[in-house]
Amino acid sequence: MTTSAPEPDCLFCSIVEGKIPAEIVARSENVVAFADINPQAPVHVLVVPTEHHGEVAQLAAARPEVLAELVALAEQVAGEQADGQFRLVFNSGPQAGQSVFHVHGHVLGGTSLGGRFA
Ligand code: IMP
Repeated sequence: MTTSAPEPDCLFCSIVEGKIPAEIVARSENVVAFADINPQAPVHVLVVPTEHHGEVAQLAAARPEVLAELVALAEQVAGEQADGQFRLVFNSGPQAGQSVFHVHGHVLGGTSLGGRFA
């Protein structure tokens, strides 16, 4: 789903609004970066648009400039925490492992991630 209004039952809308605490590590005009609660790498940060969009392709269609801003903030965080080297993962759909339906990029780094995807 795509909307600029916060979704009442959306976890990441609540984090963006400050209603649920999170370890915010960076912000830009339309994107917030916060630490993943269950890190899968030494650096594991989520980058999310402040507007509610369900999946990355929806964000790309509706607000391509915000997707570019999200990638830029991911690079900034990786520069601060992971020597500028990172993997940026978008899970899109339940079969791909998406569990929170507010688009988010996983910024992973801080170790050798190898060449495999699973
Ligand atoms: P997905 O499975 O790609 O949708 O990723 C959702 C991510 O959100 C997972 O890596 C979770 O660990 C993370 N997560 C869930 N709840 C919270 C929270 O309250 N704060 C920070 N990260 C969270």
